[in-house]
Amino acid sequence: MPDASHRPPWPTTPPTAALRASFADAVRRPYWLDALPPREPASPLEGPAEADLCIVGGGFTGLWAALHAKGDDPGRDVLLLEAETTGFGASGRNGGFLSTSLTHGIENGLARFPDELATLERLGRENVDGLRADLERHRIDCDLERTGALHLATEPYQVPELEEAAEAARRFGHEVELLDGEAARAEIHSPLYLGGVWVRSSTALVDPGKLVEGLGRAARTSGVRVHEHSPVRGIRSRGGRIELRTPAGTVSARSVLLATNAYPPPLRRLRRHVVAVYDYVLVTEPLSGEQKRAIGWERRQGLSDGGNQFHYYRLTADDRILYGGYDAVYRYGSPVEPRLDDHEPTFARLAQHFFATFPQLEGIRFSHRWGGAIGTCSRFSVFFGTAHRGRVAYAAGYTGLGVGATRFGARVALDLLDGRDTEATRLRYVRRKPVPFPPEPLRSAVIQLTRNRLAAADRDEGRRGIWLRTLDRLGLGFDS
Ligand SMILES: Cc1cc2nc3c(=O)[nH]c(=O)nc-3n(C[C@H](O)[C@H](O)[C@H](O)COP(=O)(O)OP(=O)(O)OC[C@H]3O[C@@H](n4cnc5c(N)ncnc54)[C@H](O)[C@@H]3O)c2cc1C
Repeated sequence: MPDASHRPPWPTTPPTAALRASFADAVRRPYWLDALPPREPASPLEGPAEADLCIVGGGFTGLWAALHAKGDDPGRDVLLLEAETTGFGASGRNGGFLSTSLTHGIENGLARFPDELATLERLGRENVDGLRADLERHRIDCDLERTGALHLATEPYQVPELEEAAEAARRFGHEVELLDGEAARAEIHSPLYLGGVWVRSSTALVDPGKLVEGLGRAARTSGVRVHEHSPVRGIRSRGGRIELRTPAGTVSARSVLLATNAYPPPLRRLRRHVVAVYDYVLVTEPLSGEQKRAIGWERRQGLSDGGNQFHYYRLTADDRILYGGYDAVYRYGSPVEPRLDDHEPTFARLAQHFFATFPQLEGIRFSHRWGGAIGTCSRFSVFFGTAHRGRVAYAAGYTGLGVGATRFGARVALDLLDGRDTEATRLRYVRRKPVPFPPEPLRSAVIQLTRNRLAAADRDEGRRGIWLRTLDRLGLGFDS
């Protein structure tokens, strides 16, 4: 029975007109992309072209793959096709939490890859070290701040979970600080905090817009031919090569790397494994000195809170607050379309939760609002595969932690394509695929039921009912 005295901290009253006004004038575009200097898009692909390697998708996965393919062999002719402009997808519209985890956190890693987790944790750290070295090598400034991640309890039942999380993170060599309620509220002044676990070594913050733009520039400088506004509409084997079709051109390539993550992929078999889950984000106007003093947060950690439905929030370089998450919206058939970037009810909920977290910021307005598709799979972490006799490889399904993992995903997909035997390609984590989602309409029914049960667990002090416990036993789940 739910405990009648138990009250989650989030308001349940309908949002007021003043609350709706706080985000009504917000620019409907990712803050990160809006802040970039404008540039001319690269020309679309026209007519026939040839390449050694053709990459489909110009987000982090595609751009890291392009850059590393050139690094491996500068003579390799690499061509990248992007449906919109590079960074248009999740890579240009995320929270910018750069995590060392390749498994969507240690808890998920322990549940799904217990035997390989120590290796995966090490490879994840090496990946972020390598990423930082790559940023230096290619002179990419993306405002990287090594703040760590602070996870906050907002209800009493979550407090013991902090200790468990701290213990697990320490076991895998992380630098961890456990905060009681007073210490958490001293760090960041919110009346909601009952404790926190600050994993200092797991996470850095970046400006994802600057990162994706910098990677695009570095790829072009390395000789990668980039075509924007060039959606791939067809893929087939032809004469020992792979042929890709766009509205105005074709590419005949020796090999192809698919980096389309949440988008409907050109390769149909991938659709069984990835669903698009929409996540929404608000960004405030820059805080004044007085507002900054009112919230503390001097050590600028990346924050998250709560239970199954959680918020993530952080400061930007110019001291705005980015606040996102909580609702993870799945729609029938997994569409990814610009019209879905706006979702009033979710922005109202986010604004309400924001002001419950920081009542002292009453009156602040949101300058930007947007949504984006997270490519989720049933194991919450990137998976890999090849098709067309090994000439096509893919990496997809990062769920909510792809900012760092995409570099690893790109590296592994390239190694699979080139037939390289590495420590990573030998892992079951790489060789096994996640359990597929059932086809529609069952898919929607199962996902909506799971979302509903996760929300119910949050209302009931985290108690997982029979449906979630069954999924746990089968190693399945839904997350963002
Ligand atoms: C709101 C939000 C917040 C997030 N926050 C975080 C975070 O804080 N930390 C974190 O680690 N992760 C976060 N993520 C997840 C992270 O952003 C992604 O995992 C990562 O960016 C995936 O990169 P990608 O290159 O694989 O996919 P994408 O960035 O989506 O790139 C795919 C590209 O392929 C293009 N494309 C699609 N189909 C075609 C086609 N047929 N032909 C040509 N091009 C095509 C698209 O236009 C797109 O540019 C967040 C995601 C969202 C949406």
